[in-house]
Amino acid sequence: MYNENNIFAKILRKEIPCDKVHEDEYSLFFKDINPQAKIHILGIPKFQCTTFSEFIRNADNENISIFFRNVQVVIKNLGIEKNGYRLITNSGADGGQEVPHFHIHILAGENIGRLREIIL
Ligand code: AMP
Repeated sequence: MYNENNIFAKILRKEIPCDKVHEDEYSLFFKDINPQAKIHILGIPKFQCTTFSEFIRNADNENISIFFRNVQVVIKNLGIEKNGYRLITNSGADGGQEVPHFHIHILAGENIGRLREIIL
């Protein structure tokens, strides 16, 4: 069950601020408060969902498609496509998810190493 008091829900309701890089009808992208790379952006759908699986299961196709297209818009606007980036979504307890609103991490701006070396 979705917890409306999670920190990203509060950011979406503008109850707490964020360092926004992109916003549209379906999504919000902002800088991670504790960056793990020179560029560390979080992307969240405005749709209420705890995990990636809930988003895919419950949101409609337009919402899902536009959210992921906007991930690419942000990648393009950040100018990181050529040098590369990493997308991560942590899901549930085993995935190490801390904030229970589905989000995608965009990490870039430097060589961020091999997957097993990174802890988010
Ligand atoms: P996860 O472990 O995948 O749930 O990641 C949650 C992320 O949210 C972490 O990287 C935190 O640094 C980040 N975070 C938590 N609170 C905020 C906030 N108020 N603004 C921006 N990022 C946040």
